[in-house]
Amino acid sequence: MLVGIGCDIHRLVTGRKLVLGGVRVEHESGLLGHSDGDVLLHAVSDAVLGASAHGDIGELFPDTDPQYKGISSEVILGEALSLAAERRLKVYNLDCIIFAEEPKLGPLKQEIRAKLAELLSIQADRVNVKAKTMEGLGAIGSGEAIAAQAVVTLEESR
Ligand code: MG
Repeated sequence: MLVGIGCDIHRLVTGRKLVLGGVRVEHESGLLGHSDGDVLLHAVSDAVLGASAHGDIGELFPDTDPQYKGISSEVILGEALSLAAERRLKVYNLDCIIFAEEPKLGPLKQEIRAKLAELLSIQADRVNVKAKTMEGLGAIGSGEAIAAQAVVTLEESR
């Protein structure tokens, strides 16, 4: 069993769609980024890359490369999973945390969980999604940013 961690933070700005864990979230602002800014999928992707010793998504998808502008983060995760699969590794489970003051994510956790399970090709009972506020503290607490952390384990695929 191999363990990987990932974390990410993106700035919240008006005029962008908010996508978290591949789920479109209704909100008056969205996450700035070279890609769609899906901070959760970036953290998950980095955790997969970490567990399979493939570096990080900044190396795979440089934000200086125009071909990746506006790219769906599902493509980034798919690439991370492909690299792991080349080493005969697949995701066993995922635990993750979204840090956001707004919007309230409690009602969306199950939808995000189901989407993550689909993207990782595992059962939903191997996926856990937590949502936390920062109690008004710092950049996240003031609504300037959303962050995410993820821990993934990989197992050898049979
Ligand atoms: Mg990112």
